[in-house]
Amino acid sequence: FFRKNLDNGGYNVVCGLEEIIDYIKNLKFDDEDIEYLRSKKIFNEEFLEYLKKFKFECDIWAVKEGTPVFPNEPLIVVKGPVIQAQLIETMLLLTVNHQSLIATKASRIVRASKGRAVMEFGARRAQGKDGAIYGARAAYIGGCIGTSCSITDKMFKIPALGTMAHSWIQMFDSEYEAFETYANVFPEDIETLEDIEKLPFLTKDDLRACYPFGMFAVDQKEIIEVHSSSGTTGKPVVSGYTQKDINNWGEIVARGLTMMGLDSDDIIQNTHGYGLFTGGFGVHYGAHRLGATIIPISTGQTRRQVEIMADFGSTCLIFTPSYGIYLGEVAKEEGIDFDKIGLKAIGFGAEMWTAEMRDRIEETFKTKAYNIYGLTELMGPGIGMECCAQNGLHIAEDFFYPEIIDPNTGKRLAEGQHGELVLTNLEREGMPIIRFRTKDLTALHYDTCECGRTLARMERITGRSDDMIKVKGVAVFPSQIEKALLKVSDIEPHYQIIVTRPDIMDEIEIKVEASESLFSDNIKEMIGVKRKIGEYIQNEIGIAVDVSLVAPKSIPRSTKGKIQRVIDKRNLH
Ligand SMILES: [Zn+2]
Repeated sequence: FFRKNLDNGGYNVVCGLEEIIDYIKNLKFDDEDIEYLRSKKIFNEEFLEYLKKFKFECDIWAVKEGTPVFPNEPLIVVKGPVIQAQLIETMLLLTVNHQSLIATKASRIVRASKGRAVMEFGARRAQGKDGAIYGARAAYIGGCIGTSCSITDKMFKIPALGTMAHSWIQMFDSEYEAFETYANVFPEDIETLEDIEKLPFLTKDDLRACYPFGMFAVDQKEIIEVHSSSGTTGKPVVSGYTQKDINNWGEIVARGLTMMGLDSDDIIQNTHGYGLFTGGFGVHYGAHRLGATIIPISTGQTRRQVEIMADFGSTCLIFTPSYGIYLGEVAKEEGIDFDKIGLKAIGFGAEMWTAEMRDRIEETFKTKAYNIYGLTELMGPGIGMECCAQNGLHIAEDFFYPEIIDPNTGKRLAEGQHGELVLTNLEREGMPIIRFRTKDLTALHYDTCECGRTLARMERITGRSDDMIKVKGVAVFPSQIEKALLKVSDIEPHYQIIVTRPDIMDEIEIKVEASESLFSDNIKEMIGVKRKIGEYIQNEIGIAVDVSLVAPKSIPRSTKGKIQRVIDKRNLH
């Protein structure tokens, strides 16, 4: 028995019987052993004679291998003459101790992996040959799916699995080349793009765990540019690009700008931020590739934006929907007549938006507004861009392989079904990403578009699988609240959802910023607007909410101007 569970766990897993049985079956003292003992001059001839004729006669009772066991319960009971039991004591302990240790640890890791397959790779760190062979067997008993130790497979039929040898990878100039060659040599597992389903998903947490450069697949000297996500909820994800990756990025976005009707005559005013954020650079490289003129003005200095727009004759504006709405307001104040400016297109992205928001933008700027989708992990903006049909975003399928999965089960969904978008890089060198769970909710369509293109189209993102909040058992997405708010005039589309559970029932409060004019108006009108907002939201989500109208710009913004949409105070975890 043992006195304490390993690592303060709840149980241990017993292991080692196979080797003990083998040992006991073969336990005997041959002439050489007897001669050695006699030479020690401490044993009498009677005892040596006993050993010579030794036959193990104890009864052994044991818990089955792989059984969870607890402190102070007997694991193995040996019943018989004490002289015999003593002879096997050390062997029993060392065998059960080592193998139970490995089996217990394996069981803990398997549990922590929550259903993801765990493989044993311990041989090169094991204490000697037997440690490796029996350790691999114990790990399998603890729940691993297989081992890299092929002798364990030969002896115990435990599946031998593996990856590439380190020395294989060292034969190549880059890991990328090593993997590529390996795939060419062993193509039978992954033959078509459909087989990608056999591969596990990659999540933001996986990428964060490799911060900063752990996911780069080429030497750092091959990386010519890095970008990074904001990292508001943990370590940021760093994305690395080779020269070829940057060239491809430009190519992909240039195609998208062409879909928007732009060419080398155009002047593109890019209000996306330049910096670690990928936002500014996608359109920048795309405009270069297209041969258009780019104005890299970045975000902010809104009055100067308006002045430049008029003086430089910008034909295309790139912005986030919320900044666009603000820019439109300032332009109006400055007396800009968009009928005269003659914008050809607007590209907007990097934020969730609604059809009503697009309508408002198109109405303000008197031109068509096209959605741009992207994310830093895979590249940046441009993964999907809209064409003149404005009927979903064409995905650059020669660079990205899209899938839609059920966010709860991870199973693939069919064309047109709504679920979470999963993306795979097909051409990336610096940081190839396979099956990344974007958390963005959308659907894919493969029929030929009105524009004639056959590239898959993704619908506008309608929410995030991690943004969904359950209130009173009802799934609520911030996009629904936004949709309702856009129907109301006299307010700004800036809001915050606050969920509380004062007693046992959930309560939901929506804070909305009033417009300057409404806020300085009389109370009666404010109450009327409040009631209207409450009604629209209830229509949209199906449950009643408290609405509070607050002063313009009073909801706290991050340094990048973003509002935390959902504040969940329920402490449900
Ligand atoms: Zn199209």
